[in-house]
Amino acid sequence: MKSGVLKAHIETVLEILYYNRHDAMLIRKAFRYRLYPIADQEQIFAQNFGQTRFLYNFFLAERKAFYEAHKTEKKKGLTYKDNANALKKLKENPQYAWLKIGHSQVLQQSLIDLDKAYQNYFSKRARFPKFHKKNDKQSARYMQYVFVGENWIDFPKIGKVNAVIHRPCEGKMKNVTVTKTKSGRYFASVQVEVIDRFYPSSRECCNCHYVLPELKLSVREWDCPVCGTHHDRDHNAAKNIENEAKTRAGIAQSYAGGEDVSPVLKSWQPS
Ligand SMILES: [Zn+2]
Repeated sequence: MKSGVLKAHIETVLEILYYNRHDAMLIRKAFRYRLYPIADQEQIFAQNFGQTRFLYNFFLAERKAFYEAHKTEKKKGLTYKDNANALKKLKENPQYAWLKIGHSQVLQQSLIDLDKAYQNYFSKRARFPKFHKKNDKQSARYMQYVFVGENWIDFPKIGKVNAVIHRPCEGKMKNVTVTKTKSGRYFASVQVEVIDRFYPSSRECCNCHYVLPELKLSVREWDCPVCGTHHDRDHNAAKNIENEAKTRAGIAQSYAGGEDVSPVLKSWQPS
């Protein structure tokens, strides 16, 4: 495992966002299902993959060229908004009419992914974004109007695609990424938000994991009755949350623009 870059293989947790007001955590999970599209559906996915890859590469090249042209002036680089405006013009150009086929959200998502890849790079959580190759793993992201059924997943403009739903998809759906592996297998990764998962971060001893039955909000410091460690309430909770996030991130892959990134650990906000 390279420093700061957590690679992984499991489908479960992609990203952990937390807020800690009253020991509650907001967690994002991803359920991964195998898809079996028919030939017509494969064709539309192929178009979406192509559009996603084309736009990612097109705007990555544009951002790089802009940077090279203006680096001495210390001008601010191109943003998502700049790319989105340029995309509107691109779609009006007859040469790129094929961008109008399919779902506009898929196109938009590609620009968002590129922007995220840049942000991850600037925050030192990932390497500089690379051009996406046609013979690599392909992917496209759908933000809305996707439904998971008993043995199918319904996509906008594609319809119901046969799927193996080995376990139900629980939580509020945020987005769905369809991937085609190099070997030609299709997967859908459904990202959901698990709301307000209860986690006793303030009451658990970060040293021995004993959980106090109760800890009033007014109590800012306490001693663990089992191991005797003296705790500052907030520091102890912050440590527990960090550990919890690390454990989950260790078995997870955070996917942004095809780059491996280390997990998001937002700064601690005392309750
Ligand atoms: Zn203890």
